[in-house]
Amino acid sequence: MDTHQDARSPLLEVKNLSKYFPIKGGFFSRTQGTVKAVDDVSFYIQPGETLGLVGESGCGKTTVSRLVVRLYEPTSGEIWYGEGDDRSDLARLSQREFRPRRKNIQMIFQDPYASLDPRMTLLQIVGEPLSSNRLASGTELMDRVAEALKMVGLRPEYMSRYPHAFSGGQRQRVGIARALVTRPKFIVADEPVSALDVSVQAQILNLLRDLQDQLDLTYLFIAHDLSVIRHISDRVAVMYVGKLVESASRTELFSNPLHPYTEALMSAVPKPNPKLKTHRILSPGEVADPANPPSGCYFHPRCSYVRDICKTTAPELQEVRTDHFVACHRANELSLQGITAPADSTTRMSN
Ligand code: SF4
Repeated sequence: MDTHQDARSPLLEVKNLSKYFPIKGGFFSRTQGTVKAVDDVSFYIQPGETLGLVGESGCGKTTVSRLVVRLYEPTSGEIWYGEGDDRSDLARLSQREFRPRRKNIQMIFQDPYASLDPRMTLLQIVGEPLSSNRLASGTELMDRVAEALKMVGLRPEYMSRYPHAFSGGQRQRVGIARALVTRPKFIVADEPVSALDVSVQAQILNLLRDLQDQLDLTYLFIAHDLSVIRHISDRVAVMYVGKLVESASRTELFSNPLHPYTEALMSAVPKPNPKLKTHRILSPGEVADPANPPSGCYFHPRCSYVRDICKTTAPELQEVRTDHFVACHRANELSLQGITAPADSTTRMSN
């Protein structure tokens, strides 16, 4: 469905995107089933905006991020990227056709310990996107690496050192420098702070926001933690078992959630003032298995508002308020509990 309501042209527009993985088993490794990791997902991101994509582990958000940067081939759907005449459906490009666009679309990975090769110096790690795409070499490459290191608050003299010499927060800065070195317009950040201490998380989130302002970057920011999402996002999309169940502006979504799953996620966010009590909504049971999801609404076995129709009929994603989309049969009748979001996404997190 078309979830793009803004008169401006989005930088990224994903339409009906799906990714199914075959389940192989048995002696001959035959296909025995399908995991619908991403199922008919649509969203858009305006230039200079951050879309926070949130959901529990296994909901498909990381698969979405890998589809957008073409690390996975989509099963179906469209991934429109670019502005004006320079707009194309990345899903239809071959890897060779996608290569010239790669410098504009970069990724920051989750684990700063695992994502950096311990045998490579910072010059090799940060400079790799330039050398492998033949964008710079020699002195120019060193200058670009020095510039990227400075942007993330690291000294250019560090470029001859190896990752083990740095803390977790510094290593994530190296990962960000590597993403910035090609001067991209669009960055996919896949859980970039979840492996870091809370105090370091704040520094990295503030750095990402400062870089967005300076360089006019657009982010797709993936996280399982709503308290992180509410500090960095302009708009938020919520995923559950491969499907988008709600999307809205950050202020709208946090103050007026319309999907019971979003409400349950919010009930787990720590409150700044412990006297402001909200009761934690425990969703019984496990996240549904995407290889064998429940009938009807996938959330129904865990939903405290379930009705008979929820068990048999899957709800469609519908626009219930302006630019506020939700997939729930009872969206118009439930009064769910939200939390107050910061006044705007430029609010800095305290270290
Ligand atoms: Fe709960 Fe029914 Fe809404 Fe699903 S459709 S979230 S089960 S109320």
